[in-house]
Amino acid sequence: EEEKRKYVKGKKLGEGTYAVVFLGHLRSSPATRVAIKKIKVQKEYTEGMAPDAVRELKHLQELQHPNIISLLSVFSSKDQNLNLVLEYLPLGDLEMLIRDTDNVRYGAADIKAWMGMLTRAVWFCHENFVLHRDIKPNNLLIAADGEVKLADFGLARSFADPHRHMTSNVITRWYRPPELLFGARYYSGAVDVWSVGTVFAELVLRAPYMPGNNELDQIKMICESIGTPTEDNWPGVTRLPEYTVPGQHPTRGRDYYEMRFGIVGTDGVDLLMKTLSLNPQKRITAREMLQHRWWHSEPKPTRKDDLPRKD
Ligand code: ADP
Repeated sequence: EEEKRKYVKGKKLGEGTYAVVFLGHLRSSPATRVAIKKIKVQKEYTEGMAPDAVRELKHLQELQHPNIISLLSVFSSKDQNLNLVLEYLPLGDLEMLIRDTDNVRYGAADIKAWMGMLTRAVWFCHENFVLHRDIKPNNLLIAADGEVKLADFGLARSFADPHRHMTSNVITRWYRPPELLFGARYYSGAVDVWSVGTVFAELVLRAPYMPGNNELDQIKMICESIGTPTEDNWPGVTRLPEYTVPGQHPTRGRDYYEMRFGIVGTDGVDLLMKTLSLNPQKRITAREMLQHRWWHSEPKPTRKDDLPRKD
C-alpha cells in the first residue's frame, strides 16, 4: 500500500499475454516516468500467493546493472494482481530492430555491441544466483542512450501462468535449450547461455534460428541445425524424462557455422558454437563468454550512441 502510493498510474501503453503495461510517474516527482506492469495472476493460483510472489520479486530489485531493467518497486493490488514498477523504456526492443529489414541496417560491429550488453547482463544475473529463463529479442529493451536492457524475468511470468508447462504451445520455444525440452528438472545458468546463443544467431540471420512449431518440432530443429544429442556427445541425456529424438543427425562442424554466420568472423563463430553446445555441462558460461577473444578482435563493438535505432 505504501509502495503503491508512490506512483501515479497513467494511460495504457500496451498489453502482452501475461500483463498490461501502463505509463506512470512518481507522485513526488512527476517528471520521473515509469512503466507499471500489472501481471495477470490466474485466479486458482492467487489465494494468499501475492505476498509470496512480492517477496520473491523483491530480491530482483537488488539486481542493479546498466544492462538489466531497473525494477523500482513491487506491490500487489487488492485484486491480488502483481504490479511491477519498471524503468520506462519507450524505444522498443531488439526484436523490432531485427525484423525491420526495410529501415534498419546493422553489421558485425553492432551485433558485437548488442551481444556484449546481453552477455554482461546474463553474467551479472548468474553471479547473483538469478536465472533469467526467458531470454529472447523481445525481452531486450532499448534505452534512450542505446543501452540494451534485459527485461521480463521468467520468474515474474511464472506467477501469471501456473500451467505454463502444459500450455507450451502458446509460449515461444525457439530459445529453449535441449535440456529443458527433454524435461530436465535440475538446470543451471547454461539454459540462459543457450538462449543467448539463439539470439546471437538471430541477430545475424535476421530471422529466428530454430523456429519450432511445438516442442517436438523444436527438438527436431535442434537436431537438424546443431546435431542429435546422444550418449556420445552428452553422457546421461538418454535418461532425461522426456528424451526423444527424430533420427541421428551428426553434429555440425565449424564449416557449417562459418557458412551461415561468417559475417561475425572466425572468433564470433567460435563463440556462437560454444554457446550452442548441446551438453549443458560443456556449454560455455557467461563468465567465460566475457573472456572470449571475439570482443577484442576487429571490428570493435559500436559505441552505444552510434547503434542503429528505430525512429
Ligand atoms: P510483450 O512481452 O508482448 O511485449 P509486455 O507485457 O512485456 O508484452 O509489454 C506490453 C507492451 O508494453 C510492450 O509491447 C511495450 O510496448 C510496453 N512496455 C513494456 N515494458 C515497458 C517499459 N519498461 N517501458 C515502456 N514500455 C514498456
